[in-house]
Amino acid sequence: MLFDTNIGAAVRCTNCGKLIMNEISLFNLSRSGMYEVKCSCDRTVMTVKSSNCKSFRIYIPCIVCEKDHLYMFDSRQALTQKVKILSCPASQMDIAFVGNKTLVEEVAQKHERDLQELINVLEI
Ligand SMILES: [Zn+2]
Ligand SMILES: [Zn+2]
Repeated sequence: MLFDTNIGAAVRCTNCGKLIMNEISLFNLSRSGMYEVKCSCDRTVMTVKSSNCKSFRIYIPCIVCEKDHLYMFDSRQALTQKVKILSCPASQMDIAFVGNKTLVEEVAQKHERDLQELINVLEI
């Protein structure tokens, strides 16, 4: 059986507000130990670290409270679970989505639409 070791991640840039979609290869991660996701504006939006292929940690600079938040994952769970919504513990705002890459994309796009609608409402 082919085993997909890529997980999807969506996170918003704290600098320019752009939604960044990314694929993280757990296979490559377990070899290099660390993986940084950067926005096109050069801001680091997510740092993924792993010392073995069983688990990994994600550090996300929070767009809301401007602190770094740490999330721990079990690799197997991250690959088989649907989408994990990472929220800021201080504000409860959703700051990132991690999990199955197709679903992450769907959730992130829906979230983006909701946010856009909210912005539209606020502007009227
Ligand atoms: Zn940016
Ligand atoms: Zn926060």
